[in-house]
Amino acid sequence: MAKHRTWSPQRWFASVLLAGAFCLLGALPLCAQSRPTASAKTGYECNDVHIHLTNYIQEGTDIREFLKIMGTKVGRATLFGIPLQQEWSYQNSGDFAPTYYLQTDAPLYYYSFTDAYIAMAYRSLSKNEQARLDPMITGFNPADMYATDHIRRVLQTFPGVFSGIGEFTIHKEFVSSKVAGETASLLNPALDRILEFAAEVGLVVLIHNDMDVPFAKPGSEPVYLSQMKALLKRHPRTTIIWAHTGMGRVVRPVKNHAATIEAMLKDPQFSHVYFDISWDEVAKYIVATPESVRISADLFNRYPDRFLFGTDEVAPRNQEQYLRVYEQYAPLWKALTQEASEQIRKGNYERLFDQGRRNVRAWEAVHARGGRPH
Ligand SMILES: [Zn+2]
Repeated sequence: MAKHRTWSPQRWFASVLLAGAFCLLGALPLCAQSRPTASAKTGYECNDVHIHLTNYIQEGTDIREFLKIMGTKVGRATLFGIPLQQEWSYQNSGDFAPTYYLQTDAPLYYYSFTDAYIAMAYRSLSKNEQARLDPMITGFNPADMYATDHIRRVLQTFPGVFSGIGEFTIHKEFVSSKVAGETASLLNPALDRILEFAAEVGLVVLIHNDMDVPFAKPGSEPVYLSQMKALLKRHPRTTIIWAHTGMGRVVRPVKNHAATIEAMLKDPQFSHVYFDISWDEVAKYIVATPESVRISADLFNRYPDRFLFGTDEVAPRNQEQYLRVYEQYAPLWKALTQEASEQIRKGNYERLFDQGRRNVRAWEAVHARGGRPH
């Protein structure tokens, strides 16, 4: 949920800051170790752990069209919309209908129908088509102690569909403060209940939480890092993917970020935590210079089973647009070992989501609500 297609002053400012940060980094030669190869087994280039079928006004790509866009390039993908709906407030923007959260001062609100919409779209597909998708539950308010009841209700209403929850968001620059009602927090026991329930069912969790606030003081500890670490430590039985490696739009030098992530990867208390490298802003940051590619590739090569590729595209209209981020990562794919490249592009996704599917189907078998066949 990090799409910024339209020009915005924040985006421009972030780009300027990033450009400045990378001017400070030296350029080292890139050592090309491998090229991505289509898997002999499937023939696909990658799987996509992070794709939004719909946008902030719940409009998007038809599911059959999306399968065509995945085509022969993307083997499997998660399936979710965006849980937040941008309100069209006539008092605010009059006849102008906002489609993006930066286009109006009106609030965003949780649109729970997204889960039913996703489930029905998935169910309209053939078994072979369904096998390529892993639907996720997103339409809950993570600040609500009742959120787990929503997740349970969705699983029992649409058994055989979902593999995980997310992407849902706790802290996100320019978004969190626009959400109607109580602001989500890493300290809220409602979130602990969600992660606890995800462990009980075996749902894969995809969480967006900016590690830091925009324009933080250089050298200071990222504002939400210790809270996030404490949360992750409290839920060792939950499989958690931290979206965008915790990066926001306004980020710090890649060296510092890589060191922060590596400290977590080394720590066995975080062995249940994974990172997705989705979002064109993250890709831009990683491939900015030969030095940033080298630092990132070194990290990924050392921990190849802990990172997953994703696009973070929103309602893609064609394959070229959909694979933009994959192509953007070309320098990274070249710098990875064959093993790391395969795992990050495909293997880790298959391992985590195959397990997620098995877990959730087993839970559903025990907790079936009965009644109508499905
Ligand atoms: Zn996100």
